[in-house]
Amino acid sequence: MKIAVETALVTSPYLYNNIIIMEFKELLEFINLENKRLIKKFGRNSTQQEKILARTVKLTEELGELCNEVLVFNGDQRQEKLNKYNKNNLPNEFADVIITALLLAKSMDVDIKKALTDKIKKINKRYK
Ligand SMILES: [Mg+2]
Repeated sequence: MKIAVETALVTSPYLYNNIIIMEFKELLEFINLENKRLIKKFGRNSTQQEKILARTVKLTEELGELCNEVLVFNGDQRQEKLNKYNKNNLPNEFADVIITALLLAKSMDVDIKKALTDKIKKINKRYK
């Protein structure tokens, strides 16, 4: 599975048309690295339950930011918000939601690669 992202935060991506291309494995390596950095920065004294709740709240925050960009994309926001339009905001917010969801899954020991593989199989079965 290939994933394109616009941020240069992983250890071994390569560039193609100014877009960083990475394997899913590399995305998960970035998630492991970011998980360690976040624990060092914010979570030294927090319990597992507090970390999970904080990441759930963060995911909701990022989902709200994505929703704002969807409203802007459709022109359904106040003019002052529409005036702040930047074409990079929408893809950035999709990336934030994906990364934050993966960090939450990591903190709950969810095998996301298996979860995605199983879910894709299940979805594909609907069309057989
Ligand atoms: Mg965001």
